[in-house]
Amino acid sequence: MISTENILLETPTPEPPVDEAWDVERIRDDFPVLRQTVNGKPLVYLDNAASSQVPQVVVDRGARYLEEEHSNIHRGVHYLSMRATTAYEGAREKVKRFLNAREAKECIFVRGATEGINLVMHGYGRKFVSEGDEVIVSAMEHHANIVPWQMLCEEKGARLRVIPMNDAGELLLDEYDALLNERTKIVAVNHISNALGTVNPVKEIIATAHKHGVPVLVDGAQSAPHLAVDVQDLDCDFFVLSGHKMFAPTGSGIIYGKAEWLERMNPFQGGGDMIRSVTFEKTTYAGLPTKFEAGTPAIASQIGLGAAIDYLNSIGRERAVAYEKELLAYATAKISAIEGVRIIGTAREKASVLSFVIEDVHPHDIGTILDQEGIAVRAGHHCAQPVMQRLKVPATARASFAFYNTKEEADALAGAIEKVIEVFS
Ligand code: PMP
Repeated sequence: MISTENILLETPTPEPPVDEAWDVERIRDDFPVLRQTVNGKPLVYLDNAASSQVPQVVVDRGARYLEEEHSNIHRGVHYLSMRATTAYEGAREKVKRFLNAREAKECIFVRGATEGINLVMHGYGRKFVSEGDEVIVSAMEHHANIVPWQMLCEEKGARLRVIPMNDAGELLLDEYDALLNERTKIVAVNHISNALGTVNPVKEIIATAHKHGVPVLVDGAQSAPHLAVDVQDLDCDFFVLSGHKMFAPTGSGIIYGKAEWLERMNPFQGGGDMIRSVTFEKTTYAGLPTKFEAGTPAIASQIGLGAAIDYLNSIGRERAVAYEKELLAYATAKISAIEGVRIIGTAREKASVLSFVIEDVHPHDIGTILDQEGIAVRAGHHCAQPVMQRLKVPATARASFAFYNTKEEADALAGAIEKVIEVFS
């Protein structure tokens, strides 16, 4: 069991007042990647739902670890190992505050959302799901929140049930109510759809599941970077996020779980660090969070996640969320006004994501032409093939915004879409 009691935390910068104007140009200065041209045009980075960019302070924090602190954690009694451990456990404390978890030990470091969901599938699912039981997911899940549950159902003879959605990309909550029953063992649902941008009413979904005594996993890969998340207020049992989508390096991420569940669950992987004692006859496991962190973790990346959280706090999360909302509304109005363009995903509550198709043009062609204009969007099924099947499109082009994007970039996107239409007319 790791004690974080004596860890000296780097002092977080206080949040600026909410009514201070959003100075996007000053924010952009924090992101070195944005200062480049692509195909002779200024880079317009609109692929934030895949991976967001990393501010200089996060780059510097990673470099400082490598230059001054690089060492393995938890096991060493020497100076560098203690410094690395302090920084790593300090990052866990920052995540705890960011998500408003009760205790830091409820925040398990993982490589990202995929690994976090697999951890719950193995640790909870393989222990508590049996033949004839049911697992509920939604019609708009990323493959990362479908395939592990399908594998579990196949292994156990359990059944995967799906909350349907309407044509706008909103979940049908009455049908969800009807799916819950005494065989339901877990509900796994995303907070914001990466393919459509829908913000799901997860608090309500959780409260309904809890009436049946069913725990809920929230896939927060898209929400943690774009909404203020409070796991105690949501009352979710598990919440997963990926660092590379929230301004931190790849290889960082968190699965939050209520201690009462994590303590009852099986470990995910076996190996060093996650044990209390090992003999050839029997191994006993360490307490939380170590029980779920076998082997040497991505130390530099997780410290980077802590630095990204400090950065988000310093710019003001509420202001960032409000600015992104305004930017998405602006871009949506602009792009939906272009003849021949159809927005895919028109839910009332949306964040960050603008998926669209152009009549008679394959989304890959859209992506290629936009790239020639220096504009980075994603084209494809976005690891959400069931969403594409449900909405009867083979793929979409997806622009996804962050707080460093500008209205001028939304205008550039609209102009480039008009060029695509011209090329294909
Ligand atoms: N869930 C959602 C909603 C996502 O958008 C993604 C990434 N596109 C994932 C899960 C998987 O995240 P990762 O690849 O970081 O594990």
